[in-house]
Amino acid sequence: MPKHIVSGIKYLAAIELRKKGLSQQEISNEIGVDRSTISHYLNGRNLSYESIELAKTILDCSNKDLLAIFNVLFDDVDTIRTFVSIFSKNHYDAKVTNSCIGCGLCVDLCLVKSIDMDSLKAQINPLYCCGCLVCVESCPTNSIKILEV
Ligand code: SF4
Ligand code: SF4
Repeated sequence: MPKHIVSGIKYLAAIELRKKGLSQQEISNEIGVDRSTISHYLNGRNLSYESIELAKTILDCSNKDLLAIFNVLFDDVDTIRTFVSIFSKNHYDAKVTNSCIGCGLCVDLCLVKSIDMDSLKAQINPLYCCGCLVCVESCPTNSIKILEV
C-alpha cells in the first residue's frame, strides 16, 4: 500500500469531517487514525505537501477511477465505503429491471459490495453506491439504472 498517498487521503478526510462538525475523537473513530495524529493533521503538521497534492489529484478522478484506486489503497470494503462516503459529492438511487437474468456479474464487479442476489435477481443497496457505473456498463441485459438524486 503506498502509505504516503493513504496519509494524504486520511489528512483530507480529517479536514472534510472537521468541516462537517465532527470532533477529533469522532474523526479518529471514523477513519481509524489515532487522535493525536488527527490533532497534528488539523494543525497542519506531520504531513508532506507532496502527499496532500497526490491525494487531491486522486480525489479529482472520475468516480470509477477513484473507486478503483481506493480498492488498491485500502484492504477491506468497510474502509473503502468509509472513504467513498466521506468524499462523495452526490447520492445515488439504483433500479434493476425485470430483464435481469441473474448472471451475478454486477455483484462481483461492484467494489463497494452494494449489489446482492435475491431470488436470482440483482438488488442494489444505494447507501454506499458512488455512481461509478461499472455495473451499468457491464450488465449484458442493460438492466441497471443508476440515478443521481
Ligand atoms: S449484470 Fe445485469 S443481468 Fe447480471 S445480475 Fe447484474 S443486473 Fe442482472
Ligand atoms: S454504480 Fe454500480 S458498481 Fe458502482 S458503486 Fe454503484 S452499485 Fe456499485
